[in-house]
Amino acid sequence: MRILSVIIGFLFLGLISCNQVNQNSDQSDEKVSTSVVVVKEVMTKQMQDNMTPDEILEDLMAGNERYVSGELITRDLPEQVVSTTNGQYPKAVVLACIDSRVPVEYIFDQGVGDVFVARVAGNIEDEALLGSMEYGLGVAGSKLLMILGHENCGAVKSAIKQVDVGSENVTSLLNEIEPAIQKVDGERNAKNKEYFDAVVKNNVFQTIEDIRERSPLISGLEKDGKVKIVGAYYSLTDGKVTIIEDDSHAGHEH
Ligand SMILES: [Zn+2]
Repeated sequence: MRILSVIIGFLFLGLISCNQVNQNSDQSDEKVSTSVVVVKEVMTKQMQDNMTPDEILEDLMAGNERYVSGELITRDLPEQVVSTTNGQYPKAVVLACIDSRVPVEYIFDQGVGDVFVARVAGNIEDEALLGSMEYGLGVAGSKLLMILGHENCGAVKSAIKQVDVGSENVTSLLNEIEPAIQKVDGERNAKNKEYFDAVVKNNVFQTIEDIRERSPLISGLEKDGKVKIVGAYYSLTDGKVTIIEDDSHAGHEH
């Protein structure tokens, strides 16, 4: 009888200690889950209305800092998919290159419904792209237009080297980059990093100039202060986005 009660006693102690272990592990699970904030919210009409173009630019640049430091926001993407099913109020339009190393939503740490992204080799513009940007800015209410060029752009490099792959489509695309090449002094040499970067940046400015010239809708929104247009350069080396300005237009008004 005494032996039996000792055994029961041990079992009982065992149960208590098991419970304690379980409680401890439950607590540590809770700590893990509460330390990560999962964002479910998406852009609303009110948020889009309330943000200024400068605030939107700040928001994107803050997102890029998170991307560079590896501290991306944790998002509940399936939940954002559900929340955006019937409408979208993106804050910005980004025109970028198709380069696989320039994943726009990642670079700016944005979620579902946050940004319109137009991508084309060499981030040039044409009718379809102008129409897409006009839709984003003029119809859907986005307030920032960013033209994003990038380091070591294959399209820009091919244009500098006057590559001919035997396709008119490629040739006409590369021809779009030619005016930017003409603006940069020095030997036409893609191996010269300084020259290459200067062409990449001038190509961004060229695209902005073309957009202003060919889209009265977008340039009108810009003149009214409803839309801000910025040029930017993405570094493949460290993932950083830098806002770039066209020095050749310094002192001139657009
Ligand atoms: Zn590129």
